[in-house]
Amino acid sequence: MRYPLVFAYHDVSPYLRLSGNWVPPKFFRRHLSFLLNRFRPMDPKALRFPLPYDAFLLTFDDALEGVHRWAFPIMEEMGVKGAVFVITDFVGKRNLWDAHFGIPVRHMDRSAIIELHRSGWLVGSHTVSHRSLTTLPDRQLRYELEYSKKYLEDLLGEEVVAVAYPFNIYNRKVLSVAAEVGYRWGFAGPSCRRSFGRMHVPRIPVMLPDLTLRHKLLSLYALVDVALTLPSRLTPLYHRLFNALRRR
Ligand SMILES: [Zn+2]
Repeated sequence: MRYPLVFAYHDVSPYLRLSGNWVPPKFFRRHLSFLLNRFRPMDPKALRFPLPYDAFLLTFDDALEGVHRWAFPIMEEMGVKGAVFVITDFVGKRNLWDAHFGIPVRHMDRSAIIELHRSGWLVGSHTVSHRSLTTLPDRQLRYELEYSKKYLEDLLGEEVVAVAYPFNIYNRKVLSVAAEVGYRWGFAGPSCRRSFGRMHVPRIPVMLPDLTLRHKLLSLYALVDVALTLPSRLTPLYHRLFNALRRR
């Protein structure tokens, strides 16, 4: 099974997070050295399809402040550029869309996003409000994809070509609307499929238990990743339940 080396991180921070979706900077530095000793970094602003198998790309969903504060300096030091996916309604705000699972953390503000963009990072959309796209009516689906793209284009003065699907959930309709509104790359979660397209590039999730990345390179490990990330695909359901209980 061939799998492009596109890794999906969330938060990088030395502070304890209650979710497993974070990596302390010390681990992160180790991951990066490990990868640099074996592969070359992809230039996220010059992606070509199909993606190469001897290069790696680090992506960061949700554009959390910790990524700008902790991961960005380490990557600059090592000469690696990443890709960050922004939830445009939450720029500079706390992650209240996801706060039910711990202490709220902050999303990057506009100046942090601009700084990453200027230093050569790919800035992409993670939609307007991080809703599960497959459950939305057509108009709202289009709005989530189209408005977030426009917001970032106005901020950066450059075309925004990539989107990462919230909770890595997508279907055929999501892919076709994303392409229709002008995205050329779509990033998703781990996959065991042999084939992938530029609108659904699989990614290898990196979480707290991943002390090293060595096991992530074993192709069979994709099965473990798929199993481990299943609960996170149910997050929209937990949210609905939580909100229903809170309203009672
Ligand atoms: Zn996300």
